[in-house]
Amino acid sequence: MNLFNVYPLFDIEITKGIGCRTYDNQGIEYLDLYGGHAVISIGHSHPYYVQKLTHQLETLVFYSNSVVNKLQTELSEKLGKASGYDDYALFLVNSGAEANENALKLASFHTGRKKVISFKNSFHGRTSAAVRVTDNSKIVAPINEGFEVDFFELNDIDSVRKSLKKQDVCAVIIEGIQGVGGIRVPEAEFLQALSAECNATGTVLILDEVQSGYGRSGKFFAHQYAGIRPDLITVAKGMGNGFPIGGVLISPKFEASFGLLGTTFGGNHMACTAAIAVLDIIKVERLIENTEKIGNYLIEELKQIPQVKEVRGLGLMIGIEFDQPVKEIRNRLLFEKKIFTGVSGTNIIRLLPPLCLSKSDATSFLESFREVIQSVLVD
Ligand code: PLP
Repeated sequence: MNLFNVYPLFDIEITKGIGCRTYDNQGIEYLDLYGGHAVISIGHSHPYYVQKLTHQLETLVFYSNSVVNKLQTELSEKLGKASGYDDYALFLVNSGAEANENALKLASFHTGRKKVISFKNSFHGRTSAAVRVTDNSKIVAPINEGFEVDFFELNDIDSVRKSLKKQDVCAVIIEGIQGVGGIRVPEAEFLQALSAECNATGTVLILDEVQSGYGRSGKFFAHQYAGIRPDLITVAKGMGNGFPIGGVLISPKFEASFGLLGTTFGGNHMACTAAIAVLDIIKVERLIENTEKIGNYLIEELKQIPQVKEVRGLGLMIGIEFDQPVKEIRNRLLFEKKIFTGVSGTNIIRLLPPLCLSKSDATSFLESFREVIQSVLVD
């Protein structure tokens, strides 16, 4: 049987990872500034994480959600404290798309409405709100049936306000920082006005923090820069450092009832163990502070590079936009300098390194980056 061929692949087989470094099957070392699409938060194969997961593997891999699972309780308590959302409830799932689907379901149950507002260049996984408009306006993922989704320009509060006035929208879904669509940070005033409009019209505000959450922005959640408190917050990616897990943080205004939501694998013992280890390490190693510090350093240095058109982002979620396609820059970084980076669209290099990135690794990336730019782009 062949694999269903939906991913363009680099011909590199990664077989090992330690901290911010990965190794291929020939033993070649790569600096990982991509973390497998923002998944690696605490670094590859952290010894504490490995020890906790190994112990859990030897004890119990899985039992169903029909019995008490104290790991779920431990995780929700620790996540509440770490994020500042102690009074919210946690529903555990397996991925970002599943977290967003459940958030949309909850919003629709709560309001009895079916319309959703999303934003251009947004990405919410392969969900009902999945359509992403790329920089050349190409729609890359189909809409599912069920919800009617309207797309507005990011930061266009007037259009959103007009639409919400009709009081037929169940949810506005927005990323803390747009990731796949080009690392765009919503304006704080826009988020504050959006939150107020949602409250005034009985619309549920869903903050998709799947990519921008878990410390990546230099705060636990990127929306915390704007000081708002959304109704639902979705998380995944960095939550398990590679072990699949996601969740919805749910405001006390939503009432739970048996059977309202459900999943077989969500909140399983291995996934909870991984997520608890991640929160323990983020706290002990002060990784959010590190993210803010190293992120600021990288952003300031990148802004000095004359060939760069714009640097966007917060913490260790950084987009570097050029006037021209970045394919060759990315390839040279990977094949000549042995550094993994990502892209958004055609002209943006996207950095999503582990949150434990050191200043010396950041500096060595900057040196390599300047050299590659110099050789690819003559200014
Ligand atoms: N939401 C955002 C903001 C994402 O960036 C992604 C994935 O890139 C998702 C949702 C979907 O997550 P998953 O691929 O785990 O379903």
